[in-house]
Amino acid sequence: MKGLTGKNVLITGATSGIGQAIAVRFASEGANVALNYRNDPDKLDQTKELIEQNCSQVKSCGGQAIPVEGDVSEPEDVVRMCQEVIKKLGSLDILINNAGFQKASPSHQIDIADFDKVIAVNLRGAYLCATEAIKHFLDTKRAGIIINVSSVHEIIPRPQYLSYSISKGGMENMTKTLALEYAPQGIRVNAIAPGATATPINDWQNNPEQQKEVERHIPMGRVGTSEEMAAITAFLASDDAAYITGQTLFIDGGLTLYADFLQPWSAGE
Ligand code: NAP
Repeated sequence: MKGLTGKNVLITGATSGIGQAIAVRFASEGANVALNYRNDPDKLDQTKELIEQNCSQVKSCGGQAIPVEGDVSEPEDVVRMCQEVIKKLGSLDILINNAGFQKASPSHQIDIADFDKVIAVNLRGAYLCATEAIKHFLDTKRAGIIINVSSVHEIIPRPQYLSYSISKGGMENMTKTLALEYAPQGIRVNAIAPGATATPINDWQNNPEQQKEVERHIPMGRVGTSEEMAAITAFLASDDAAYITGQTLFIDGGLTLYADFLQPWSAGE
């Protein structure tokens, strides 16, 4: 990918799943990666190992990988995290807002603390990180880049996961609003919207029967991989995407194509 070598990239939630794959991908593009984790630095061991393994086979590597502790839902943590990245790497060029989680409950019975926490991490956390990054981009007159990791539930309603759906729906508007507001300064803001992706966030990840059931609903007949999500994230951050801003790219094997219409049930015969 053009233009990623030597760039300084902060990835929130880099301990597993999509965030981990994004970290590995950017490292293999020659970027310096700041790997965000919460509380326990050991949680980054696997990410660091994968970066090392991958980099032993890829010539374009050569950047640094540094750990950055912080809970994205805590404003003080976010400020400290971003300052730490700027101090250790010299600047911040690309922010990947990936940290997220979900909590299931019938919508009329949601524990309000759980509701607030999902919004605080998935949406407000992404916003807090974005504001710190944008302040730095403006201060240093930098054409910085933000990629938000949204979801197909940005547009597909998700019963039992209302707070998650709202957080990703809000992310769509945040992506567009920030993109529009800072386009004159050359700052680009985009999002990826993964479909069902094999990561620890999904209970079916280690259950082949359950996974088959999930795949029955996907037009392309399979779930996505974290590496596929990472590839499109790298593309959106690269110079090849220099004229794209305010967009969400859906990476979902056709999940958002009204899959039920694959059969001609609507004609009534
Ligand atoms: P995952 O493997 O569970 O990873 C989630 C990451 O977020 C972990 O590194 C986790 O850290 C981190 N995190 C959670 N709360 C945090 C907080 N308060 N502060 C900092 N980090 C925090 O799940 P994933 O599938 O890779 O999810 C990554 C993103 O993709 C999420 O935004 C999710 O909504 C989105 N997504 C996933 C799918 C899918 O099917 N997998 C589909 C659409 C969208 P810990 O290790 O400390 O918990």
